[in-house]
Amino acid sequence: MPTYIRIALPVPLRRKYDYVLAPEQPVPKLGGRVRVPFGSRDMVGFVVAVGVEPEIDASLLREVIAVTDVEPLWPKPMWQLLLWAASYYHHPLGEVLTHAAPIAVKQGEPPSYTQIKRFLLTEAGTAVDINSLKRAAQQQRILAALQKGALSAAQMKREEFSPAALKAMQDKGLVESEQSLPKFERWDGALLEQPHALNPQQAVAVGAITASLNTPEQNNTSAGAKIWLLEGVTGSGKTEVYLQVMAEVLNAGQQVLVLVPEIGLTPQTVARFRDRFQAPVIVLHSGLSDQERLQGWLQARDGHAAIILGTRSAIFTPLHNLGLLIIDEEHDGSFKQQDGFRYNARDLAIKRAQQEGFSVVLGSATPSLETLANARSKRYGHLQLSNRAGEAQPVKSGVIDLKAQRLHNGLSDQLLAVMQKHLDAGNQVLLFLNRRGFASALLCHECGWVSECHRCQANMTVHQQTHTLQCHHCGAQRRIPRQCGHCGSTQLITRGLGTEQLEEAIAKRFPNYPAVRIDRDSTRKKGQLEDYLQAAARGDYRILIGTQMLAKGHHFPNVTLVSLLDVDGALFSADFRAPERLAQLYVQVAGRAGRASKRGSVLLQTHHPDHPLIQELVQNGYQDFAQTALTEREQALMPPYAAMALFRAEATEKSAAEALLQAIHDTLLAQQTASEHNGQTASNAYDAPEVAVIGPMPAPLARRAGRFRYQLMLHATSRAPLHRLLQASMHLLETLPQARKARWSLDIDPQDFT
Ligand code: ADP
Ligand code: ZN
Ligand code: ZN
Repeated sequence: MPTYIRIALPVPLRRKYDYVLAPEQPVPKLGGRVRVPFGSRDMVGFVVAVGVEPEIDASLLREVIAVTDVEPLWPKPMWQLLLWAASYYHHPLGEVLTHAAPIAVKQGEPPSYTQIKRFLLTEAGTAVDINSLKRAAQQQRILAALQKGALSAAQMKREEFSPAALKAMQDKGLVESEQSLPKFERWDGALLEQPHALNPQQAVAVGAITASLNTPEQNNTSAGAKIWLLEGVTGSGKTEVYLQVMAEVLNAGQQVLVLVPEIGLTPQTVARFRDRFQAPVIVLHSGLSDQERLQGWLQARDGHAAIILGTRSAIFTPLHNLGLLIIDEEHDGSFKQQDGFRYNARDLAIKRAQQEGFSVVLGSATPSLETLANARSKRYGHLQLSNRAGEAQPVKSGVIDLKAQRLHNGLSDQLLAVMQKHLDAGNQVLLFLNRRGFASALLCHECGWVSECHRCQANMTVHQQTHTLQCHHCGAQRRIPRQCGHCGSTQLITRGLGTEQLEEAIAKRFPNYPAVRIDRDSTRKKGQLEDYLQAAARGDYRILIGTQMLAKGHHFPNVTLVSLLDVDGALFSADFRAPERLAQLYVQVAGRAGRASKRGSVLLQTHHPDHPLIQELVQNGYQDFAQTALTEREQALMPPYAAMALFRAEATEKSAAEALLQAIHDTLLAQQTASEHNGQTASNAYDAPEVAVIGPMPAPLARRAGRFRYQLMLHATSRAPLHRLLQASMHLLETLPQARKARWSLDIDPQDFT
């Protein structure tokens, strides 16, 4: 009797495929992988059922080409999480699994360790006084690094340690190398640096989280697992709380997974975790080679790594013995994947914790309204750090009314005067402008022609340094024209201040104070961002000009003045999340100021000083803003008090995108009516349907890269009916004939509506 297996393949279809195993082939387990013929090519798929009754005539089934792994790639709890994710996001399982696997594995390789050579101190090396190597600076650096723990050959290389110095230390018997990789058993409790004495609020937080841990000592089993919101302004010592709770987890021999925003994974962040514990730290991010990622993944899965630090996709790292999951800056948009498999790493983390029974800490100075709502309803524990740690003082906030003021390249007289004062006092100033390039558009002074992108419904940005017009949506570039494209006039002017222009204006205005611009354009070169940040922290620059990149996580102790130059766009945006994002940005940017003993100020330039959002933020702070915003969301029936899903479609033909969404709309409505007839839902003729299907309508960015874009919104006051409707409809949507001329995607809990 042949064995039939059911496979999920990385194809955009939700159905599974049956294959037959040859008698000599081993029988793979659930979650194992096989190579199979699919159409005219080979594909690697995941086994989702073994010993099935084939769905089609068994004699028509094709044979498995090879069994790549008999054993499952993921431990069972992780496998369950991935199954859940595929059903929650209504995304094809084969694509979810393939997405979650490391790249090297995606290409069909078995996940195996490469020869790992690690360097570590010998007993003699451990006993060496670091000062005795004063005359050999290279050796001193190596010693200092290895005192914090063993390093792999690749890590040594990345640190650019001198091979000659390493060789010399090996010859002296201070350093040895080994080929094997020890398992992380349990951290021995030896700290590399002395922790701070906690302030009372920090102590409460560490105590509460520690008591909820599911360590063998606490023996809480799943009952203790808990989600914590750790809300504390920047500099209030959240990281210190993480570190002290981590000590407990590591001491119990469990692992810690720390997720940080894409932009937050700086060498400083990594150093803070490495410097505290003598325990193996793995860093997972997109800058690694495929092999490095795979090695990190394996070391996490098999329990060689104690601390795993990574960005969004690190949530898919299998862990041998996970004890605690920390999400720093939990409100950050980068935890949401915006294309393909559109998951939210924060939400998956919470699901994972609930399934596996460990605690989660969500840290932020500006928690998302979703998380705050959960804290208010007591589903999450709420811990607060209201004071800045150490001697740092709270920042002073102020508003500059731009109405009728003279502006000099976006800077008001009032701001210029305050800047001068702070600079003359020897401090640094940070100017925040979230628009890179020189100007946001080029236009003709005579006829009003505007430099639009040919492929998008958007203006092209002027980049003076490269003499180009660039489209920030599709990447198109062309040279800055000398003449108007419409009337031929040479009177071309720019509109909308960008960071390049600001930098130029600042250099003229404050020639004696060196300035630096930090944005995506100025930091394209690898290592450039770190160099700038270090130079800024050293005080080489007195004026820091930056976009979003500067808003997060960096410590500039001598910055005493921060100004947001132009945020009015967010006040009148159609996106219901725009006020929340502005409030978060404001608090995060303000958090850069005055972290040492110097008191910081934040100044907001606006044409709408009386706008309620601005008033609330500046006078009462984020918490009051969030309270008001949550009340508004509740009244308007918006998330977190409603569930949403967004269908997007795009096509080169305008009508094709709209027609596809109309067909989806009709299918959903038909399905809804059918289930009402079957009595599956509670609604009656007087009620509005449980799920509102709104659209199709053109997307705010109605055309991008030559494709027309449409949206269809699903809105419901609770999750269950929305998911029921989608669950019942997805297989129908896959076969719509309209999908031949347009592409569609589904976004559950959408964050971005452009
Ligand atoms: P956050 O993560 O909230 O931004 P950090 O943990 O980075 O805050 O703390 C900010 C600064 O205050 C750091 O330099 C840290 O070393 C210091 N710090 C933290 N906790 C204490 C404490 N209890 N006493 C003194 N200094 C502290
Ligand atoms: Zn013109
Ligand atoms: Zn474009």
